[in-house]
Amino acid sequence: MRVVEKAGQGLRVTRMAVPLRDTEEENLLDHLEPCLDFIDEGRKEGSVLVHCFAGVSRSATIITAYLMRTEQKSLEEAVESLKEINESVCPNDGFLDQLRLFEEMGFKVDTSSNLYKRFRLKLLGQSYKIGEKIGSHVLEDDPGVPQQPNPSQELSNKETHKTAYRCKKCRRIVAAEDNVISHTPGEGNSSFEWHDKRKGGHTYNKEKDCSSLYVEPLKWMTPAEDGALQGKLSCIHCGARLGYFNWSGIQCNCGSWITPAFQISKSKVDISTI
Ligand SMILES: [Zn+2]
Ligand SMILES: [Zn+2]
Repeated sequence: MRVVEKAGQGLRVTRMAVPLRDTEEENLLDHLEPCLDFIDEGRKEGSVLVHCFAGVSRSATIITAYLMRTEQKSLEEAVESLKEINESVCPNDGFLDQLRLFEEMGFKVDTSSNLYKRFRLKLLGQSYKIGEKIGSHVLEDDPGVPQQPNPSQELSNKETHKTAYRCKKCRRIVAAEDNVISHTPGEGNSSFEWHDKRKGGHTYNKEKDCSSLYVEPLKWMTPAEDGALQGKLSCIHCGARLGYFNWSGIQCNCGSWITPAFQISKSKVDISTI
């Protein structure tokens, strides 16, 4: 994202350029709030022009989000009101899904929410599927390694006791509460339909408790980086087996498909507070 200022002949123009392809897989959410804030700032001083190439998908998506946030409009209402001015408005399906998430998150991009985490994981699964390299930079910080002290964070940590999952054998923290991506037992299937061959064969009990946790891919999960489709996840400290990962998904014992899946068996960890 780039912001350039130009002035001349009594006209001052501030321009923000956002690199965004018009594809369903493009991560629009991560650009959304800076764009909306930029429009807000611009409107305080003058007029704002939002444009892309054809005015159909990308710019229309940004304006739709802007209407949603400023007027608390639902996605449908915002698109409809925009269509009254320009019939060709048509955000691509991936952008529409992300705008729906934006609405569900309360007209903001809440990166700590389960909705956002699921979205991030799904994007990561798509990157894997098209053969992009999964580097450690896309994996979340290891909750078992102390992070750089942040004075404001330290304060809040003292006040709140967060749940952590520790390896049963050596007690090392292997996941924090924030890393868990929850699912509704027996429901939801965020798969990409590339595990058809495994269809059928099992009946699952929706009433049963899920026997595993599904988490964001974490920096200690080094086997997830080497390009393998699936593998074991072992404790980085003592080597005890904790679970599995599978980029094409794992079916939880409750019946839900988690795709991709980074699974930690509940029987291998203890719950404690950090
Ligand atoms: Zn489950
Ligand atoms: Zn261990």
